[in-house]
Amino acid sequence: MADEFEYSAYCHCSNCRRTTGSAFKPFAGIRRANFKLVRGLTCLLVFGEENGNDSHCKLCGSLVFSVVRDGVYTHVPMGTLVDDPTIRPTKHIFVGSKAPWYVITDDLPQYAEHAPG
Ligand SMILES: [Zn+2]
Repeated sequence: MADEFEYSAYCHCSNCRRTTGSAFKPFAGIRRANFKLVRGLTCLLVFGEENGNDSHCKLCGSLVFSVVRDGVYTHVPMGTLVDDPTIRPTKHIFVGSKAPWYVITDDLPQYAEHAPG
């Protein structure tokens, strides 16, 4: 089944590093209106507000999605996806707060904070 992802990136910000326990978070962005949680609503452990949060599974602790951009978009960490998404990360964002012990080895564009546009 086709997904509705609109953009994808590797985020190196400290929040994404902490919540994933990794050097960065590969994520895919989808309009919240197109994102449907079909199961497990009662199993969510939500850190943050209605329009800005990280939602984890309270059974296994996995980060399932984040509500971002004033609640208009949802960012799905690509490592949690079972199916191959239609999209690939096209850039590195928040490289200004990248972990000093991690070296980016690909040629994708890098932005100190959000990518322009
Ligand atoms: Zn981030």
